[in-house]
Amino acid sequence: MRSTETPPTVAEVVAELERRYPPAWAQEWDRVGLVLGEPEAQVRRALCVVDVVPETVAEAVDAGADLMVAHHPLMLRGVSSVAPTTYKGRIVHQLIKADIALYVAHTNADVAEPGVSDALAARFGLTGLRPLHPPAGNEPAYGAGRGIGRIGELPEPMTLAELTRHASVVLPATVWGVRAAGDPQRAVRTLAVSGGSGDSFLAAATAAGVDAYLTADLRHHPTSEHLATGGPALLDAAHWATERPWLDDLAVVLREALGVETLVSDLETDPWTVHAAPPAADDKEPDREG
Ligand SMILES: [Zn+2]
Repeated sequence: MRSTETPPTVAEVVAELERRYPPAWAQEWDRVGLVLGEPEAQVRRALCVVDVVPETVAEAVDAGADLMVAHHPLMLRGVSSVAPTTYKGRIVHQLIKADIALYVAHTNADVAEPGVSDALAARFGLTGLRPLHPPAGNEPAYGAGRGIGRIGELPEPMTLAELTRHASVVLPATVWGVRAAGDPQRAVRTLAVSGGSGDSFLAAATAAGVDAYLTADLRHHPTSEHLATGGPALLDAAHWATERPWLDDLAVVLREALGVETLVSDLETDPWTVHAAPPAADDKEPDREG
């Protein structure tokens, strides 16, 4: 561990993060790495976030952070302006004015081992971890243990209904909560998890023969067809809640390998802010007509 009296530079932090999450491991469409910040600036304090939004930027400014490390790219598509009159341009201006560097590790942190889904799997105490979707032999991320998602065994089997309740307890709390698809009494021992939008890996979960697959952003038709063709039960958690656990691991890296004082944002940046379940049959409002 480094002395806190000689804080690392942005360039040194970037070098350490890229040793663990090489940019070459990111998907081709992804945009990772240093977004803004002078490489020679010193980093005493960092804030780890899933999303770079006005609320988390305000958190970084209030905390006196020198660096934000985010999971989701601020700018995924090409831009021709960062004018402060635009949503993202305003964020860029606020960060530069406050002297806060911004670094993104996204799909390169998803495939890393340990990576985003290892932290998610740890919340369930999964053992015997293996990747849900390992990279092909010709992909840069190819290597033992690496890949999107993780498969492992639960400490003890539970029904899908029990696992859904359990997931809502062990994952960071959100308004969205956790919903599941499949027979509530189905026994689950082997669980697949994938942080973020994981519906492109439904076929991989079926092929792996797991009992259930937990991810986020699942949709009606893919879910229905997956279940109708004999796929494992599905749990749909809030996107933010599936990736927030990784920030704790990231904070350990920044603290222990670099001596940076590190904070983790618990600000729920999932966009869903209201959730209503229908009333249980016995406490429905009395029928006005009757
Ligand atoms: Zn995500």
